[in-house]
Amino acid sequence: NNPFSQQKKIIVNREKGVEFGKDNIVIAGPCAIESYEQFLKTAEFVKSQGADILRGGAYKPRTSSFSFNGLKEEGLEILKEVRKKTKMPVITELMDIRDLEKVYDSTDIIQIGSRNMQNFPLLSEAGKQDKPVMLKRGLAATINEWICSAEYIAVEGNEKIIMCERGIRTYDDYTRNTLDLAAVPIIKKETGLPVIVDPSHGTGIRELVAPMSYAALACGADGIMVEVHPNPDEALSDGEQSLDFDNFEELMEKIKKIIKIY
Ligand code: PEP
Ligand code: MN
Repeated sequence: NNPFSQQKKIIVNREKGVEFGKDNIVIAGPCAIESYEQFLKTAEFVKSQGADILRGGAYKPRTSSFSFNGLKEEGLEILKEVRKKTKMPVITELMDIRDLEKVYDSTDIIQIGSRNMQNFPLLSEAGKQDKPVMLKRGLAATINEWICSAEYIAVEGNEKIIMCERGIRTYDDYTRNTLDLAAVPIIKKETGLPVIVDPSHGTGIRELVAPMSYAALACGADGIMVEVHPNPDEALSDGEQSLDFDNFEELMEKIKKIIKIY
């Protein structure tokens, strides 16, 4: 009784098509959409370096309510414009069921964030629509709890689920989270779903993003998701873990040389 037995191919197709589980996928972009200029500039740059999918949050789940919470609807409008202009497929986070229609119309992949991994009504709604869903691992979720959450989506009929390992909270606080790369082969074995690794949130430290990206691909991840900002020191969120354009260029050059083992 495998709830993921009806898996369909997960293909996102704009100018160029990519298939999760088959291609090595690079998702890149800023943590948050801050302005049309910031988002377009980043999109054009990551595209020029070979990124497959553009990321950018319009609704930002921030720990403090006083932090920048995203441009919300205005952010979605920017997302749509930049998607059209660059012809890149996009991914953005859905935080609240009430925003489903708006987010659905603006994106190619719906992201469920770490803080909502066990928001069961939200998971069910994501399962009732037909766009691929990327489910991030909860802040302190076990692998089994994470798989159970994916099942909430699948049982509603949407089996286009991408799992994203983004680190978990452990006793070690040197890094923002502890990136659990063993989860990659485990999730693939247990569910057969594609797995993306997010070393930006997984470490919280810019210098660790490249080495953890290489490690993720070496252990069989189907791709990575990294935060990139034109000027990380001025970013409205997650600047300390964001790559600048030079960092991203270097990362992409090395990734192209890594041989896919799996
Ligand atoms: C994100 O990727 O934009 C994000 C908020 O990450 P997480 O949900 O993993 O904290
Ligand atoms: Mn972020």
